[in-house]
Amino acid sequence: MRIRAAGPLALLAVLSQPARAEWVTRTEDGIMGTRIVVELWAEEHAAGDAAIDAVMSEMRRIDASMSTYKPDSEVSRVNALAAQGPVKISAELFELLNTAIGYSRITDGAFDITYASVGFMYDFRARVHPDEKQIAAALPAVNYRHLLLDHAAGTVRFSQAGVRIDLGGIAKGYAVDRGIGILQHRGFTHALVSAGGDSRIIGDRWGKPWIVGIRHPDHKDEVIARLPLVDTAISTSGDYERYFDENGTRYHHIIDPRTGHSASAVRSATVLAATATRSDGLSKTAFVLGAEAAIRIYEKLGDVDAVLVKPDGQVLYTKGLEPPPVSPVSPVSRP
Ligand code: ADP
Ligand code: MG
Repeated sequence: MRIRAAGPLALLAVLSQPARAEWVTRTEDGIMGTRIVVELWAEEHAAGDAAIDAVMSEMRRIDASMSTYKPDSEVSRVNALAAQGPVKISAELFELLNTAIGYSRITDGAFDITYASVGFMYDFRARVHPDEKQIAAALPAVNYRHLLLDHAAGTVRFSQAGVRIDLGGIAKGYAVDRGIGILQHRGFTHALVSAGGDSRIIGDRWGKPWIVGIRHPDHKDEVIARLPLVDTAISTSGDYERYFDENGTRYHHIIDPRTGHSASAVRSATVLAATATRSDGLSKTAFVLGAEAAIRIYEKLGDVDAVLVKPDGQVLYTKGLEPPPVSPVSPVSRP
């Protein structure tokens, strides 16, 4: 029999060619109040797309359970009930609360999810901040020691009234790690997942490191440093992210748990660590404790690096990133 259907056959020939590997990228706004970017190297486009779908749903799931903007989230339920008695929570939230308390200890209390006991009175979009009286009244409730976790029962309780928690300083890093976990599980070995200022990279890009720029605190199109990165997480916190200026004071979203005011000891802090949960949990430290104290903590930890921009524009690095001192190059006379 003569085959006349040349068209469909030709198409079949094209389809049976091996699929070409390619970079698949997607950007989505509005999950966890920020921009999510996923970029991966896929042997097949469809598999890459499906993996990105899975990462985005995971981010939406975490947002739904951990957002304080959603009254029906698990964290909102804790805030509503935990001052009255122990609240049974998911193993996932329990683990993250435990991790958050760990970062409070490591950072001398600079990182503290109970910052929200005062922090809830700020609305940076609406240019609203609490006055001194409101801060003084709410401040005693800010202290991570008020969070009482019962491992055996899987519950959390607040030791006093007025305590609120907010995971805005760690949930994005956690979500990025979960996203990378999904990609690794599906066999991807070259990828980037980022949620706002928190990113994690696996593998390299075209055989070269990924290049991540740290923006200038005042000029969003200027870069103060470019870091070549492979297999690492990176978080940048800045006083230019969510803020408003009033009478010469900048009110921004990182709160000093000791004072209830915006923490302004640096303009920006970038932390590199093995996981984004860790880089996120550690990127607020310098705002509260100051650049030098934060560098001491990072260097003592040993597994993290940082780039800090001080209020006067000076840039400090941990030893792992610091450009080494070099002897002057002697002039060579040429014929
Ligand atoms: P992003 O939200 O872009 O990831 P950061 O990682 O810098 O930015 O986190 C800032 C967020 O951390 C704030 O919006 C707030 O939710 C939370 N936060 C503010 N102050 C503290 C603090 N002292 N400790 C822990 N979390 C904080
Ligand atoms: Mg963050």
